[in-house]
Amino acid sequence: MKKSLNFFLLIISLLFFHMRGIGQSAECGTDYIHNNLMQTDSVYRKQIHLLESQVEASIQNHANNKLSSTIYTIPVVVHVIHLGEPIGTGSNISDIQIQQAIAGLNDHFRNVNGLGVDVELEFCLASKNPNGNSTNGINRVNGSSVPNYAANGITPTGNTCSGAVETAIKDLSRWPVADYYNIWVVSEICNGGFVGYASYPVGGLYDGLVIVSTSMTSNSGTLPHEVGHGFFLYHTFNGDGGNISCPLDTNCLINGDHVCDTPPHKQSDCGTTNPCSSTGVWDNSRYNYMAYCPLVNRFTQGQKDRIRATAIVTPRASLLTSVGCEVVGINEISSNKIFSIFPNPAQSVINVRADIKLLGSAYVIYDNTGKLVLSGKLISENTVIELGDLSGGIYLFSVEENLKQTFIVIKE
Ligand SMILES: [Zn+2]
Repeated sequence: MKKSLNFFLLIISLLFFHMRGIGQSAECGTDYIHNNLMQTDSVYRKQIHLLESQVEASIQNHANNKLSSTIYTIPVVVHVIHLGEPIGTGSNISDIQIQQAIAGLNDHFRNVNGLGVDVELEFCLASKNPNGNSTNGINRVNGSSVPNYAANGITPTGNTCSGAVETAIKDLSRWPVADYYNIWVVSEICNGGFVGYASYPVGGLYDGLVIVSTSMTSNSGTLPHEVGHGFFLYHTFNGDGGNISCPLDTNCLINGDHVCDTPPHKQSDCGTTNPCSSTGVWDNSRYNYMAYCPLVNRFTQGQKDRIRATAIVTPRASLLTSVGCEVVGINEISSNKIFSIFPNPAQSVINVRADIKLLGSAYVIYDNTGKLVLSGKLISENTVIELGDLSGGIYLFSVEENLKQTFIVIKE
């Protein structure tokens, strides 16, 4: 009896894993938008072809490899287009969830699990806004007044689902794409039809990625997948005609996903062998962030080369010299007198003055890549926090319960 119960549970959990994996990434909307634009917009088509030729030339010349030990940092702004819920509820996800999502994204790109390659590219939540003032890199806007948003979420341009017009949603909050990589967190895309989509790197006012709030998490496979598209990665099964036939495989730099160490396959082929090809490292495709298979966990060297070749040309190159993550000088920060941190910038300690109703609240301090560096509790109306070993730079201080706000702390 026990044996059969265990077997039953195993089957159920395998089914769950399978569905979760497929469901999580099978609903990326990038190709729908891209294919539509390639057919209808000659300017877009030319831009993609130009970028493709630049990237291919760069990879073939190994020009990008010269810079391979440089870690590129991309300033990110996150726009939360919520439905009017309190912060930390429903689609209005908390600052901490967003910071952890960016930290997880960095872990994926920096190959923290050791299963792929370190892309040497990471993301920082913006600390300086387009006006030069300090920011935590998160903007919140209630989008419920935009027609169809509350009922169906956003409709990607070119799609016919009955959500809100994409540009109307993005116009609620967007920062210059030359200086910030824009991420819009939305309640839904096409009434649950997709979990995310991204613009291939052609610039423009609405460049960036869109992701549903439930996928903006630290262990999300959707976030690195969409950022991968944003840096010109195709799906590993690109060219399968919609899961119909094996992608062409005569020149790996221009066929399939244009990457040579990800064997071409059909979208739903995720098993132990690849029916399309017996050569190459199959795990590089079936466990790839750009596949629709379950348990994705890696980018490859070929993808790294393509990402980095993309990062150094227009329109992504300007992000590498953006000041979006630079320190903004501030003397003291406060939130309507119930909370203040000083001095700021700080040296070895910060003093946190908190209203009595915040006592006992947990605080957390993240670095600007989203990594948790310190945590504790506000134990009195004047809590002294030792910054000790932390290196100089920008930190995000957050009192999640009660205050639900993030403050920038600078350590000199
Ligand atoms: Zn995709």
